[in-house]
Amino acid sequence: MFEKLGDAFSKAAKGFSEKDLNEKDIEEVLSQLEISLLESDVATEVIDDIKSDLSAKLVGSRVNKKEVEGFIQKSLIDNISNMFDEAGSVDILEGIKSKTDPQDPYLILFVGINGTGKTTSIAKMANLLQKNKVSVVVAAADTFRAGAIEQLREHINKLNLKLIAQNYGSDPAAVAHDALLYAKSHKVDCVLIDSAGRMQTNKNLMEQITKITKVVNPDLKIFVGDSLAGNDTVSQAREFQEHTSFDGAILTKSDADARGGAALSIVAVTKKPIICVGTGQGYDDLELFSKEKFLETVFGKPQPEPVAEPEPEPQPEPVAEPEP
Ligand code: GDP
Repeated sequence: MFEKLGDAFSKAAKGFSEKDLNEKDIEEVLSQLEISLLESDVATEVIDDIKSDLSAKLVGSRVNKKEVEGFIQKSLIDNISNMFDEAGSVDILEGIKSKTDPQDPYLILFVGINGTGKTTSIAKMANLLQKNKVSVVVAAADTFRAGAIEQLREHINKLNLKLIAQNYGSDPAAVAHDALLYAKSHKVDCVLIDSAGRMQTNKNLMEQITKITKVVNPDLKIFVGDSLAGNDTVSQAREFQEHTSFDGAILTKSDADARGGAALSIVAVTKKPIICVGTGQGYDDLELFSKEKFLETVFGKPQPEPVAEPEPEPQPEPVAEPEP
């Protein structure tokens, strides 16, 4: 995963090392970088940020040719690393642990478009929580899409968990509320709530999510996006962020994504962190997102600073033998 984004950055860095740094050259290589980033699914406003940051650092800089490649790579890493830092982080297990009142379980609402991997991600999250000794109940609050309840039930049965469901067409907020009551009366630590996922521009959908939020007041809202859908995922994230103000994202199918731009773009555009990435179809294929791992995949392992050779001790001048 992410190889293509790595290629885009290393091409840009190499482009410079063969040239003297004048403004025209910088522009040329920046536009090469732009093309490569577009091909890697990085959103245009993010590309503009990366370019202007790099250009500001380079124009007028007095970096010599030998050091340019390292200089550019370091600037890009700093810039991208800042984007991730600005978005902060979400520690779900810590959040759950911090709620100790059995009458106040931890609620997670999942939002996102159908087909992105939302149902599978809920099952993976349930599995991850179970493995961490957190008890879980799941609410089938997508009462709109035919088959959604059965699909979720199949996963939840396999994981030996309790599913709270009503009929199709019933009020999703009522299903979420039922699940909350169940969790309180059975002292369950965490409630995972599915939601419908037709087009993100659908006003009804956004109103439904707002209603669920009002009724059960989730502790965390997670946007699920498909990393293979590239810029579509970024515009979905933008829309859901505007209407539902989520706290973080799960990016699915990163095992099949060679581009890697979606992760970077979602974080830069929504200022919300990627919490986990989906890395396959199995229940264990959910990894906590790590900025360090992402940067390492894109840019390679950080090279240790070269250790300077110690200066040789000055030798005393040989004392000239007196002439006989
Ligand atoms: P939903 O409509 O959003 O609920 O999507 P599903 O959960 O049904 O997932 C759609 C398809 O994507 C299924 O075939 C899943 O197995 C697959 N899928 C989900 N997450 C991942 C992932 O991280 N990697 C891969 N390779 N496939 C995934």
